[in-house]
Amino acid sequence: MDENLKKELVNEKKSGWYGTTDEEFGKIFEFCNGYMDFLNHSKTEREFCFNAKKLAEENGFKDVNNVENLKAGDRVYFVNRDKSIYFAIIGEQKLENGLHIVGAHIDSPRLDLKPNPLYEDGEMAYFNTHYYGGIKKYQWTTIPLSIHGVIVKSNGEKITVNIGEDENDPIFTITDLLPHLAKEQEAKKLREAIDGENLDLLVGSIPIKDKDAKSKVKLNILKILNEKYGITEADFVSSELELVPAFKARSLGFDYGMVAAYGQDDKVCSYTALKALMEINIPSKTTICILSDKEEIGSMGNTGMESHVFDYFVSELLNKTGENRPNLLEKVFCYSKMLSSDVDAGFDPLYASVSDKTNAGFLSKGITLNKYTGARGKSGASDANAEFVAWVRNVFEANNIKYQVSELGRVDVGGGGTIAYILANKGVDVIDCGVPVLSMHAPYEVTSKFDIYEAYKAYKAFWEKD
Ligand code: MN
Ligand code: MN
Repeated sequence: MDENLKKELVNEKKSGWYGTTDEEFGKIFEFCNGYMDFLNHSKTEREFCFNAKKLAEENGFKDVNNVENLKAGDRVYFVNRDKSIYFAIIGEQKLENGLHIVGAHIDSPRLDLKPNPLYEDGEMAYFNTHYYGGIKKYQWTTIPLSIHGVIVKSNGEKITVNIGEDENDPIFTITDLLPHLAKEQEAKKLREAIDGENLDLLVGSIPIKDKDAKSKVKLNILKILNEKYGITEADFVSSELELVPAFKARSLGFDYGMVAAYGQDDKVCSYTALKALMEINIPSKTTICILSDKEEIGSMGNTGMESHVFDYFVSELLNKTGENRPNLLEKVFCYSKMLSSDVDAGFDPLYASVSDKTNAGFLSKGITLNKYTGARGKSGASDANAEFVAWVRNVFEANNIKYQVSELGRVDVGGGGTIAYILANKGVDVIDCGVPVLSMHAPYEVTSKFDIYEAYKAYKAFWEKD
């Protein structure tokens, strides 16, 4: 085939590293160092929310509750119960002309402690857990785990817990059966081999020195917890404690070209959006960034995207810009555009059979757009309109952003969803747009540094578009 004709007609998808200059290389690696550092301090939604708020305040953002009036260029945020956060930079145009929204989620699959977690068995102490989100249970055994979260005493006093991250901290783990005695377990289906009720965390083994006490190991743990945090066993009932992998985010490969880290779904899109947001000056359309909670369990509840708290935030923007009038909120949504910034399943050559190779997202080939997600016959999908896909393409092409349009897996193999449909149901034009990931939902997920930087560029270009 004639090379020029091929160039003109064929949509060839090459690795983005080919076109990367030395200068861009430097920028990509520096950006990803910042990303890995942020991840190491932001493993849970509460930690991410706290650190995002801190970064925003350093960049001139104020709590919307403390601001009386808003005008173009003003930067505000709203923290929803310490687990999700919304940001706005007021644009030059009226809000009724529509918002430019980037929405990601900051919760990730993990194990939560049950309300009554502590028990003793075989003279060892354990915490009972209940898994959160779609996990492959076997992946969560025999790895170092840390405990993050809060314990709120009945008098309202809140104790922040973060143990297992510091070099001098202990870590915790869930044991598994030795192969010598696992004949029966190994014959089971993968999903049944580890019982969800058996994902119990080993937390101690030294008995208290008290001859008459019962459950001496448990009692010793309670004594330690009381000394360290000032709590009693009853205080666990009003706690939210999450177990996450204790490993650090690291560069992956001899070439350092990838990132391996816990929670990249969806903190990779959250971080890239957050960094881009900091650099927006006075936009034409009002810039909105959503960092949501509970996406991994269906977006329900008052910190999830299904709640009306985000509507309240936009109403407050309408009130404080003096623009509000009856029913204006619905109009604002109908004229808005959104990138639902969530990760995509990257093509994995080891598991090629689950992908349609011509419609899969590849690592290092840029940000992926999922026109729709869903399962089977697109069931439950929010399908972006062709007109809007063209508009997004145009933004990316004009800004030299490498993108690919893909589907999550072969037809009928499985499926998935994001927060896209929730905003689309309000009337917003929405498309899923994020970073392809390998080993999604595993304790250690893999992304390409090229795609991470491309995501940051993409969100910035989208917000800066008129
Ligand atoms: Mn996600
Ligand atoms: Mn997910």
